[in-house]
Amino acid sequence: MPKYIDIAVNLINSSLGKNTHDIIQRAVDKGVSPLIVIGSNLPESEHAITCSLANPQHLYCTAGTHPHHASEWNDSSTNTLRELARSPKVVAIGECGLDYNRDFSPRKKQREAFEAQLRLAVELQLPVLMHERDAHDDFLAIMTEYRSSLCAALLHCFTGNRKSMEAYLALDLYLGITGWVCDERRGLELAGLVSDIPDDRILIETDSPYLLPRSMRPKPKSSKNEPQYLPYIAQYIATLRGQDPAIFAAKTYQNSLDFFRL
Ligand SMILES: [Zn+2]
Repeated sequence: MPKYIDIAVNLINSSLGKNTHDIIQRAVDKGVSPLIVIGSNLPESEHAITCSLANPQHLYCTAGTHPHHASEWNDSSTNTLRELARSPKVVAIGECGLDYNRDFSPRKKQREAFEAQLRLAVELQLPVLMHERDAHDDFLAIMTEYRSSLCAALLHCFTGNRKSMEAYLALDLYLGITGWVCDERRGLELAGLVSDIPDDRILIETDSPYLLPRSMRPKPKSSKNEPQYLPYIAQYIATLRGQDPAIFAAKTYQNSLDFFRL
């Protein structure tokens, strides 16, 4: 059975939270392990560490502040995050970045929190897991400044266009692809791009409980996405790339090991 690593699972403070054990088990039964649990703000990152320590075989996590939560970032946040990042369970700084689609935090505050986290990732030489939605120009400007000092950088849930994909690949970013690509309407553009991501720069993820792949048949009873569906997404992407699914699975598995240094 092919092995998979789900590089973005929102297990904390989400609809997945109540049945952690069952969700992990269903994933493991499909060859999906470990899971990378996303920390979206600092208290949640602390929970993600606790949860990962309680499931040491199957969970690792990130620690950071998502752009939605950038307003929470303050003078003591860098020190708090530095402490959290000491945990051997923390494999990347993040999720951090810019989201001008929702604008849940002021844009200036988003840029400040993002840059502070990049500086910490540079200081600690930890990989960084990032988010960008409708903020390409500012994101690219900031990345251009920091990229050469960062050890490894990943833009998760990439949903941009060809121009942004090429700019990010030129900066040697990994790109994470979700089940967004399975959406028969809004995923069409992405479906035409995934074959042009180099073999050693593509990662796969569910971003569960969000983004249930719309093309699954039969449709799952619940609209909640789960890590157990990652093999379906992988197969779908492999077909778009004209690659053997087993070879694609092995490649993305190795890319995840390399990126997170597992
Ligand atoms: Zn995200």
